[in-house]
Amino acid sequence: MLIVMRHGASDEEVRRVCDVIVEMGYQARPMPGRQRTTVGLVGNDGRVDGSRIEALAGVQEVIHVSKPYKQVSREWKAESTIVSLPGGLTIGGEDVVVMAGPCSVESEQQILAAAEAVREAGATVLRAGAFKPRSSPYSFQGLGVEGLPLLRLAKAETGLLIVTEAMDPEGADQVAEVADIIQIGARNMQNFPLLERAGRSKLPVLLKRGMAATLEEWLLAAEYIMAEGNYNVVLCERGVRTFAQHTRNTLDLAAVPAIRSISHLPVIVDPSHGSGNTYMVTPLARAGVAVGADGLMVEVHDHPELALSDGAQALTPSQYAQLVNEVRAIRNLTSPAAGGTPQN
Ligand code: PEP
Ligand code: MN
Repeated sequence: MLIVMRHGASDEEVRRVCDVIVEMGYQARPMPGRQRTTVGLVGNDGRVDGSRIEALAGVQEVIHVSKPYKQVSREWKAESTIVSLPGGLTIGGEDVVVMAGPCSVESEQQILAAAEAVREAGATVLRAGAFKPRSSPYSFQGLGVEGLPLLRLAKAETGLLIVTEAMDPEGADQVAEVADIIQIGARNMQNFPLLERAGRSKLPVLLKRGMAATLEEWLLAAEYIMAEGNYNVVLCERGVRTFAQHTRNTLDLAAVPAIRSISHLPVIVDPSHGSGNTYMVTPLARAGVAVGADGLMVEVHDHPELALSDGAQALTPSQYAQLVNEVRAIRNLTSPAAGGTPQN
């Protein structure tokens, strides 16, 4: 439920609304706006009787949020969220953010070469997993904690920000020591203790869509993070499981405008896991930006044939540089400022 306060409602009136919400057994989230303050009521799993709140001084209107997810929805917050990162970088603003790097951190030499190559080609965020959720127990499982100092080194050498995956709550704390963004992978989209731990972190969270998740399940997973007080969530469409056999996953590009219409959160596209084939990555990256994605996450390896994971979908640095030029040109044509992609 959202309680819209009158223009000019006093701090005391807002406080009284919050107190009554707490007395009713829920939590209050006051959100001061330019025109008026809104107070969100969270913690309910069904319709709440708003009559007691409606009668309070300073209350203009009580809006019942119809969806099961609340804080992620545009009903709750109309303006698009812009996630701020160190160094003035933003996700959800004018620029398309390109996160790139190898699937896994493999060695010092490999991650430093990859980081340098993607930085030169226009990336601002380095992706690479130390903790790797692999389908087979016999596949390379990542370097684990030993990979984290290598990411720290890559960051120090290149100035790139780091996004890297956490697979469990303890891993989230370890990752948070070096990362600028905590990645939650498709296989862990409904790992609720992990979502809650990430929700208590101060860092932005990149939440990938589960491979069989509906938009509602995905948004409810984001709601878990926000319910813990972390509002910096970036959604990542990375393909879902379908009957198609020509791709590893079916990249659901329609999810981008759908999410932008029902949620204020930024959404990016991963054309690498979304296709599984190098030759498809650039076309799908172009399409992702054309449908309104706020950014891309792309796998790049300086020797894809030697990659310890996901080499079949890795771009070489020069292929990646070309991709960046192309998607920037597309963004210039379709950005809201240029009168292109509608926001919702
Ligand atoms: C990854 O980004 O390396 C990864 C494992 O992706 P996903 O969780 O989308 O499969
Ligand atoms: Mn991968």
